[in-house]
Amino acid sequence: MSRVYNFSAGPAVLPEEVLLTAQSELLEYGTSGMSVMEMSHRSKDFEDILFTAEADLRSLMNIPDNYKVLFLQGGGFTQFAMIPMNLMINKSAGYIVTGQWSKKASGEAKIFGEVHELASSADKNFSYIPDLSDLNIPDNLDYVYICQNETVHGTTIRKLPNTKGKILVSDISSMFLSEPLDVNNYGLLFGGVQKNVGPAGVVIVIVREDLIRDDVLPFTPTMMKYKTHADNKSLFNTPPCYGIYICGLVFKWLLKLGGVDAIHKINQAKAKILYDYLDSSKLFHGTVRAQDRSLMNVPFVTGSKELDAEFVNAADKAGFKNVKGHRSVGGMRASIYNAMPIEGVNKLVQFMADFEKEHVK
Ligand SMILES: *Cc1c(COP(=O)(O)O)cnc(C)c1O
Repeated sequence: MSRVYNFSAGPAVLPEEVLLTAQSELLEYGTSGMSVMEMSHRSKDFEDILFTAEADLRSLMNIPDNYKVLFLQGGGFTQFAMIPMNLMINKSAGYIVTGQWSKKASGEAKIFGEVHELASSADKNFSYIPDLSDLNIPDNLDYVYICQNETVHGTTIRKLPNTKGKILVSDISSMFLSEPLDVNNYGLLFGGVQKNVGPAGVVIVIVREDLIRDDVLPFTPTMMKYKTHADNKSLFNTPPCYGIYICGLVFKWLLKLGGVDAIHKINQAKAKILYDYLDSSKLFHGTVRAQDRSLMNVPFVTGSKELDAEFVNAADKAGFKNVKGHRSVGGMRASIYNAMPIEGVNKLVQFMADFEKEHVK
């Protein structure tokens, strides 16, 4: 067996310990005599898996009692529609557009009502976070939406927007459990789990109870109502059982490591290794304004398309997989999520330094 360093933006690297536990429990979970994949979602064993996962997530994120935690399907993208269906009661919402994912979310919201673009960084290909301290917020907005970590562009919103009393909705897919967040600042948080938490398909929604309502937009299907899932503890229909089980193992792994504060320190250390090198390199440079740089997704370029391609190729051969940048930014991107070990980042930087020596005389 030879496992590579996988810098993919998603689906992404998972902790080896978690995969090994899953392997050891593949044929028989506990004393159930069966795999989690074969289990009824109404069984005591699966209820334990689901409710333990929820309790562990609540403890990791300090989720207050007046918020529901929902384990749903359809990835992050389905939330782009579910949010307006459930929250856009006045058919008007504000979107802060800082990259591909917030742009996609605002596009989807336009199906359901009026979308006000409150701020945008499109003028510089989403390479920075605009000032969000004094936005023009129309009175009738149902919510203000952000994508807090833009996976493609590698930016993070560090200072939340002043929403002037409106509900804040945040997509935390690519920064889920990577640093502490105060849940009280949000009406709704969601994350597709495939970036930092588990296998693709599962999405976790953390929503304040008073925002879960019956009088959602007309034609909202049963499956798309938060109330359906909240009333049934995420067991309305068959949930993505195996994916939830893996998320639960990742939560246990994080708790053992010391929780979100502990992983945040490790993430800061990992990102610093890469950014310090980029800042000192004569060949590679980062594409994001320094104060807005993500701890999770690190895009960089050489300035030459040919050299970029040569580097991606050489890195791939050396076992550094998926460092090719998104087509809209070009160059390279290293995603260094929670499960990427620090030696993976150290070795990548060493490889970049060697490549630089060969190419800069
Ligand atoms: C990947 C991603 C999504 C979409 O997730 P899917 O699981 O593909 O639906 C949404 N938002 C952000 C920030 C992402 O990185």
